[in-house]
Amino acid sequence: MSTLANVSFDCPSCGARVHGEIGLVVQLNKRRDLAQAVRDRTFNVLPCANCGGRTEVVRTVCLTDFERRLWLVVYPAWAEAHWRDLAGAVARGFQRNMEVAAPTFLREQAASWQVRVAFGPEAMREKLILGDAGLDDHVVELAKLTLLAGRVDRIGATVFVTEVADDHVVFRVSTPSGRVEEVDLARAAVRDAPPPPTAMGAAAWSATDLEVDPFVSFRRWFVVPRAADPLAFDLEGKAYAHAGGNPRLEWDD
Ligand SMILES: [Zn+2]
Repeated sequence: MSTLANVSFDCPSCGARVHGEIGLVVQLNKRRDLAQAVRDRTFNVLPCANCGGRTEVVRTVCLTDFERRLWLVVYPAWAEAHWRDLAGAVARGFQRNMEVAAPTFLREQAASWQVRVAFGPEAMREKLILGDAGLDDHVVELAKLTLLAGRVDRIGATVFVTEVADDHVVFRVSTPSGRVEEVDLARAAVRDAPPPPTAMGAAAWSATDLEVDPFVSFRRWFVVPRAADPLAFDLEGKAYAHAGGNPRLEWDD
């Protein structure tokens, strides 16, 4: 079952009132159109009828796919600083819904589900296109480390896969200074990436670290987690004051 909501806000460009529908909880296998919108980067992006400007409505969403067995909670990009607490909340939410409250057949398959947390629309999109391509995100995250190794100019970068073809994978590396690079790797090179070198005397990077919680991202080794109250990020967080330039929403229902 999917949950959508009608919202309205003032267009940040021209001030005209924008009305539209956004997804809050989306069952991707039932709503192929919304899954495609995620791939097209138009999910929860509402156009202004007056000026044509497009506004991304930033909020937490939960995407599920009962065919692929994917449970993906996506928080705003700025919430990544709180990844540890939010990853824990996602794991508990999955457990509550799929291991305790679910019908028997779902409980029995719960262990085979991918439970993931992602921050921002590009991270959300990446999880879907990796699934489309049959690429294991653990492998991809380790391959990203090889793109950063020895590259002082890429310190603090985010790295997302933006495209997967039969024989190659395109990564977008964005640095905090705003520089964006596209890096193309052969698909075999991603799969067989050598173990990344250890950095600054740290213990070796290990895929096992990526299995600790739903935050399957190389960023867990770089972003020092700050505490957060997961309830402040709840899916119904209507009272939550959005950061990151999100327009002030009104809920029309
Ligand atoms: Zn407008």
